[in-house]
Parts: sequence; C-alpha cells; structure tokens
Amino acid sequence: METIFEKIINREIGADILYEDRDVIAIKDINPKAKVHILIITKKVIGSLQEIEEGDFYLLGEIVRVAKRLAKEYGIEDGYRLITNNGKKAGQSVFHLHFHLLGGSLFREEL
Ligand code: AMP
Repeated sequence: METIFEKIINREIGADILYEDRDVIAIKDINPKAKVHILIITKKVIGSLQEIEEGDFYLLGEIVRVAKRLAKEYGIEDGYRLITNNGKKAGQSVFHLHFHLLGGSLFREEL
C-alpha cells in the first residue's frame, strides 16, 4: 500500500513542495511543530532509517545537502534540528524514510 509520501511524490495528492531532485523531495509539514518545519523525504521507498541498506547510504548525504540548502534559504542556518523518528515507539507515523528540518521558534510539542 502506498504511503501518503508516495502519493505526494507521484502527484496523486497535493503538497507544498519546496525542493525536488532525483533522490529526494522536500515539503512543508502539514502540522508544523516549529516556525520552519520541512520534511525531506527519499523518493526511494524505504520504510525507516533502520531499513536502509548498503547502497542507499548516499541518500543520507543527499538529505544533509538539501537540509543545509533549505536551512539557508529559510534563514535558520544558525539554529535547526534535523531528525528522524525510527519506528512506532519513537513516534514514527509515516513509514517512508523522511527527516524533519525544524528551526525558527520550536513549538514545544513532541515531534
Ligand atoms: P513522523 O511522525 O516522524 O512519521 O512524521 C510524519 C510527518 O508527516 C508528521 O509531522 C505529519 O504532520 C506529516 N504529514 C502527514 N501527512 C502530511 C501531508 N499530507 N503533507 C505534509 N505533511 C504531512
């Protein structure tokens, strides 16, 4: 079954797309936990960080590259968090690898 992020990647549902290349897509989080809350999502379907395999580790570098670029673009390069929730017990709700880029004022809820 497709995750919500696959549907966004395949343009089956809409999202506020801020960046896209061959490997990743970045969108605004629909339920922001900070003034700037961006999701950087791999296009390849990988369920979580724990499921990433040899050969796909370069994607983590790509995510960092895009995070740096977006942090600068959105004026948060002097203070941000880049995090992933791995697994249900850590609060993961969409099982398609993504990192949260959070900056500006953080809202004090759990991620
Ligand atoms: P996680 O709980 O770490 O798996 O993060 C999933 C994130 O996806 C949450 O912060 C949600 O607010 C966000 N989200 C869910 N559906 C959408 C959507 N259609 N567009 C943008 N963000 C979404």
